[in-house]
Amino acid sequence: MPSQIKDLPKAMVFTDLDGTLLDHHTYSFEAALPAIDKLHREHVPIVPTTSKTVSEVKQIMSRISLDGPFIFENGAGIAIPLGYLPRMPDGCEHDNDFLIKSFAPPRQQWQGVLLELSKTFKNEFVSFSDMTITRIAELTGLNEKDAELAADRKFGEPVKWLSTEARRNEFLSMLKDKGAEPLIGGRFLHVSSACNKGMAMQWLVREIAQQFHQTTLLSIALGDGNNDVDMLELADIAVRIPSPVNPRPQLKRSDNLLDPKGIGPIGWAEAIDSILPMLTKKVN
Ligand SMILES: [Mg+2]
Repeated sequence: MPSQIKDLPKAMVFTDLDGTLLDHHTYSFEAALPAIDKLHREHVPIVPTTSKTVSEVKQIMSRISLDGPFIFENGAGIAIPLGYLPRMPDGCEHDNDFLIKSFAPPRQQWQGVLLELSKTFKNEFVSFSDMTITRIAELTGLNEKDAELAADRKFGEPVKWLSTEARRNEFLSMLKDKGAEPLIGGRFLHVSSACNKGMAMQWLVREIAQQFHQTTLLSIALGDGNNDVDMLELADIAVRIPSPVNPRPQLKRSDNLLDPKGIGPIGWAEAIDSILPMLTKKVN
């Protein structure tokens, strides 16, 4: 895939990673490779859109040979490789080889809030920034190298709750008073502000269409979980990938919605194979 776009693509694919492009259990994307090749040949960019960090996404993208933009930390930020777009969009900052568009306050803001709350909730929680990589690896089940990539966050701060549920509810309400929109995950409580994958997807589609003075850029979103709902509702074409662990996310829409049968990357390839002929017919 070229690291620069010279013409407006006809469509863009926004894809969740875990359980969608990557198999839930094995993290393999093998089954999706033929469909990825077809998208490359049609010059359709594939934009990973995930809860993962920049460091984690970069590692996965190099395995799949993707080098375009990506949406990370659940839509809190977009990373656009330098030189990918003809012009630098408004409101972006340089960060190494990327332009970063942020939709959320930086992690440091929540670290400050948590430091303040640690007086009221002494020894009742511990946040990522206070843990060693070894401890994060133990709690996440990742190896130390992957735990280091997962800990390299720009926006939200994961917190391990150590006290009772009643105290956790008090903690959550104090966080909300301070402007956070905390999310309760399986292992951690994620302290960040309201942001979602859909909002970030729309920003990128609009920016690219504007830079090429066009409005015909179609968005195709693929996801398997509840954190994909916003992008699945907002995309021109939505694909719900079956998961071996979650029910299909509930959506309000029923138009331009595909429900492939295959799990993970198998369903991903199935959906792309059925969408591609429509695209070449409609837009070319
Ligand atoms: Mg997923």
